[in-house]
Amino acid sequence: MPTAIEIFKHLPKKNCGDCKYPTCLAFAMQLANNKAKLDDCPHLSEAGRNALARSSAPPIRLVKVGAGGDAVEMGDETELYRHDKRFFHPTAFALRISDDLSDRDADARVEHARSLRYERVGQTLKMDLLELECRSGSPEKFLRFVTRVAAACDWPLVLRCSDPAAMSAAAEAVKERRPLLHPADGEDLEAMAGVAKACGCPLVLADAELGKLADLVERTRKAGVEDLVLDPRPDNLKELLERCTIIRRSAIRKTFRGLGYPIYVSVPAGKDGMLMASTAVMKYGSLLAFEELPASNALPLMVLRQNIYTDPQVPIQVKPDLYPINNPGPDSPLLFTTNFSLTYFTVMSDLEKSKVPVWLQVVDTEGLSVLTAYSAGKLTAESVKAALDASGAKESARTGTLVIPGMVARMSVKLKEATGLEIIVGPKESSALPKFLRS
Ligand code: SF4
Repeated sequence: MPTAIEIFKHLPKKNCGDCKYPTCLAFAMQLANNKAKLDDCPHLSEAGRNALARSSAPPIRLVKVGAGGDAVEMGDETELYRHDKRFFHPTAFALRISDDLSDRDADARVEHARSLRYERVGQTLKMDLLELECRSGSPEKFLRFVTRVAAACDWPLVLRCSDPAAMSAAAEAVKERRPLLHPADGEDLEAMAGVAKACGCPLVLADAELGKLADLVERTRKAGVEDLVLDPRPDNLKELLERCTIIRRSAIRKTFRGLGYPIYVSVPAGKDGMLMASTAVMKYGSLLAFEELPASNALPLMVLRQNIYTDPQVPIQVKPDLYPINNPGPDSPLLFTTNFSLTYFTVMSDLEKSKVPVWLQVVDTEGLSVLTAYSAGKLTAESVKAALDASGAKESARTGTLVIPGMVARMSVKLKEATGLEIIVGPKESSALPKFLRS
């Protein structure tokens, strides 16, 4: 985003106030801070609008693959380091299926992709796309394969085929699904760009030399295709890290539009694949296409992705409320914890394991864990009482007692005064809850 002064140069300088700001400079400052829109100024010239739209375009283009609610969005990132603000669009995962497989084996691969689905801290972790590859060399077979798999699974698709004629037929058959086409390199660039333009699909440009990749971008944009993804074709971990970092750094730090696109990484099978995939999740990979992805690799990679793409300034939170666990009744114990998702789901899982019916009161601590919230003054006797009152916990759980986390045993006296409940100090670690409750 340009600075307020750079924006100001393109404004009409009438100071008329029609944008609801007293001067053009005040409006420019709001625009620079993303608090106003270009359209708020009705007097902006066409040239000024175009110049501002160009300079305020995101350094990495947003590219959508797929149509409707399940479309995958990539790019539109603004940071080199996650802690500077956040990363926005999580790395998409695709499982590769090739047309040389039997129908039965291809169906099994689709089912495997579907089975890689997990719940963690209240979020669903899953695969995002299927990559359909032409390995048979037969355009007819590829077309039949793509049509068949697309009918069986409505996920967004990547079509991987180096023959422009075969790609054209397959892309035409599923173009309403807006598949990503891979790859276009130096030799067949114009032909592949023609297919992408005719079908309205995004296109992956591939070259191991980043200078040539930027040239391909220029040529493809001249051919009328703007939605591009870059495949820097790394063969090993060093090349992956080096090329992805140069692409991201050029786009963010130098606003170099020639490399300002999402990054595609093909992940080989085996141990090297796991290393490359985890590095690509951390270092700017927008879409990973897996040759193989066993469940033992999928879960850690998805958890890594979840952690990298969580906003570091906004902890994942659950709704403060009273939660029944294992079908509790009025004589069941009442416990409390905080609304930090990781804390809540850890405690809930341990309580479920105990098989003891309990009530769990979740207290709003703005997403902080128990000890952090206590130290920050967000977990107090008053906030616990307010949470119990708001949820009507004392009407549901009538034992007259409250089990508190062992970490905050020092709250006992104040809690008893505030709530009128007898306080029982529970274990310091959530994992000790089942034994504690059963005894
Ligand atoms: Fe300036 Fe446009 Fe705002 Fe008028 S409406 S003050 S010309 S920015």
